Amino acid sequence: MLFRVFAKDQLINLYDILAVNHIVGPVSKGVDRHGAPLYDFDFIYDFAELQLDYTATIHSLKRFVLPPRETLCTFDLQKDSWQKHVDFNAYKPTVYFGLHACDINALNKLDKVLIGNVYPDPYYAAKRKNMFIIGVGCTPQPFCFCKSMGTDSVLHGFDLFLTDLGDSYFAEIHSARAFAFMSSLECREPRHSEHLRFVEVNQERMNRFTCHVDTTDLTKILDLEFQAEVWQEWGRKCLSCGTCANVCPTCYCYGIEENVDLGLQHATKTKHLYSCNLIDFAEVAGGHNFRPESHDRLKYRYYHKHRGFVEAFEESLCVGCGRCGQSCLANITVPEVIASVRGEGANHA
Ligand code: SF4
Ligand code: SF4
Repeated sequence: MLFRVFAKDQLINLYDILAVNHIVGPVSKGVDRHGAPLYDFDFIYDFAELQLDYTATIHSLKRFVLPPRETLCTFDLQKDSWQKHVDFNAYKPTVYFGLHACDINALNKLDKVLIGNVYPDPYYAAKRKNMFIIGVGCTPQPFCFCKSMGTDSVLHGFDLFLTDLGDSYFAEIHSARAFAFMSSLECREPRHSEHLRFVEVNQERMNRFTCHVDTTDLTKILDLEFQAEVWQEWGRKCLSCGTCANVCPTCYCYGIEENVDLGLQHATKTKHLYSCNLIDFAEVAGGHNFRPESHDRLKYRYYHKHRGFVEAFEESLCVGCGRCGQSCLANITVPEVIASVRGEGANHA
């Protein structure tokens, strides 16, 4: 890792250098019902749209690497032969400008399943190869608990990471591509005083986390509490709407559809993201549903994130971004669910 410092007015030059590619970043999306600003990731066509001081985005970056619906392949039948056409739907390198550490960590977790596992997903891998990632330090929000999940900082999975020092940015350079781009900017090696300021800024950020989840022995506690009454209680509240999975940066469950046209000459295979909270997620041929009750489905989602994934990859599948709780119409939040399973109240220090 190399470090550089550059003045804030250089940021637009970095943007201009990168703007030959698609650029995706946090943009303003109006205000919520309390008047608080809303942000989401979207394509950016003008530097002024980029909101690097955003709080949190409604959705994660997932839709760019795991689209809600994606055509996997098409089939054409001609007389006695047929042809299959495959398109990985990754056409142009894209710069992701301004990701927080939790969202970069979320991509690193998805990589473990979708690239590094037994059955790699070539559609996801093609999009991941086309990404240039610029991270940016965040301002902890009252619903963020990434510090508890160990995802409040990130060591890999980005090209460049920027920390705001006031009138300059402290840049962590993590790839040769990023180094090449930085060579076009007016930047220099950080002074000792800037090293100290960098550490200080990060310490100040750490001190601002107010929401915590106790993950001590969580896998064992989940095993012990599999039949606990609290799951029924949360299940009675859950609307089985799937919103939590939709906004979650690490939910990757999906379904596959095959549609054949009426003339039997053309067919399309489509992948669509799904949620284990939806009522038919565990329904199989013949109509049997392995998880017919909402508490079974909600519990399954928690056990996948905090139990099964930990067993497989030695880390949780939750990065503590808090989006699911923020979007849930039933006000079901991870800190409160985990605290209740542990027999405690949620810890908002
Ligand atoms: S936990 Fe909330 S967001 Fe998720 S399915 Fe239930 S009601 Fe919907
Ligand atoms: S489960 Fe909730 S808090 Fe955890 S990563 Fe997904 S959206 Fe974020």
